[in-house]
Amino acid sequence: MNVGVDLGGTKLAVGTAESVQIISTPATSDDIIAAIDTLAGEARGIGLCVAGRVDLQSGSTFAAQLPQLHGVPLVKQLSRPGRRITLLNDADAAALAEHQFGAARGTHTSLYVTVSTGIGAGLVSQQRLYQGYRGQAVELGHAGGPGQQPCPCGRTGCIDVSASGTAITKAARALLGDPTVPVDTLSQMAAQGHAGIGQIVRQAAEDLAPYLGNACVLFDPQVIVMGGGVVLGYGELYLETLRRALASTLGQWHLPEIRVAQLGRQAGILGALQSLE
Ligand SMILES: [Zn+2]
Repeated sequence: MNVGVDLGGTKLAVGTAESVQIISTPATSDDIIAAIDTLAGEARGIGLCVAGRVDLQSGSTFAAQLPQLHGVPLVKQLSRPGRRITLLNDADAAALAEHQFGAARGTHTSLYVTVSTGIGAGLVSQQRLYQGYRGQAVELGHAGGPGQQPCPCGRTGCIDVSASGTAITKAARALLGDPTVPVDTLSQMAAQGHAGIGQIVRQAAEDLAPYLGNACVLFDPQVIVMGGGVVLGYGELYLETLRRALASTLGQWHLPEIRVAQLGRQAGILGALQSLE
């Protein structure tokens, strides 16, 4: 039996396509490893998806939300005789899951992009995830551009800084002069036609489009699957602008169909399991 593990800053989920157990993410690396080990039981394979950057060479993670695991050789510490472990970030897991079971099922090559707290992406071609050497490939959110804003990753001009859900929420709250407005309220206001918030959301889609265009020219996806809180929360307001701006930035290059992710929170576990296939 194989299990998928979806490790985030607040929740740790371990399970199969049929059943998942969810606990609060333990505070220490030892407790996280012990919890995964216990919940995985006798599993022969563990697909481990982490909400952040992974390093396949050291088998560790440098996820911002999981500082207790920085530099910890996670894969090595979970290793047991006869047990196989795969490591991937959550956007890559979702990319794999959507390609295999969700919105991109049956396609040749799909690019998955999540616009949520941050911007993540994953590329799957003919059922194979492209992870690169360290598992850090296709990090669209950290593709740089003309912007000069510093990113926590150490680069400047990362699109994550200006067009992520965090950036949209911050700008919308500043516009309203209230730093406590819930994200759901912002999306409701946008849906009801709030011009200022609508403009912020459309601008974020507009800003992401050239980066998506570059990904299209580089990877030639058949479809682009869009997921994450911004896409699901602002819906067509965001997607309509994204489609139009992407078409404009691609010129005579093929415009891939943009689809909405179907698997939601399940995507992490399903993708982690699929990475063992
Ligand atoms: Zn960055």
